[in-house]
Amino acid sequence: MLNIYIDVIPDNELNDVQMNNLKLARAICGSMGVYNVYAARIYPDDHRNIVGLYSVNKQAIYISPIQLMKARDTVDTVIHELAHHVSKSHDNTDKYKESLKIVADETIMRCETGMYDRVLTYVNW
Ligand SMILES: [Zn+2]
Repeated sequence: MLNIYIDVIPDNELNDVQMNNLKLARAICGSMGVYNVYAARIYPDDHRNIVGLYSVNKQAIYISPIQLMKARDTVDTVIHELAHHVSKSHDNTDKYKESLKIVADETIMRCETGMYDRVLTYVNW
């Protein structure tokens, strides 16, 4: 069993770019029913590099600060983690892959309808 230590970074310790991307992440996650979205340093026991995490118990998504430097990376991470929320399954399972497509399609659809325009204004791709 892999243990993962999560060190949440308070919003006020993020730079402007990271904060604006986190706001975009929160908007996207909120529309998929995940309301706890934080910047966090993620330390797994085995020292592998983890840039995002979904906690089933806490119904929370954690994003590494490096993924908050570019909106593209933030959105990639958020969609990956949201697919865990929707599928309740691990990476590479059929259920996960199915959910990943649904989450990606819905996110694009919501972008096109202008749902995230208010936060997108401040974001750099
Ligand atoms: Zn994953």
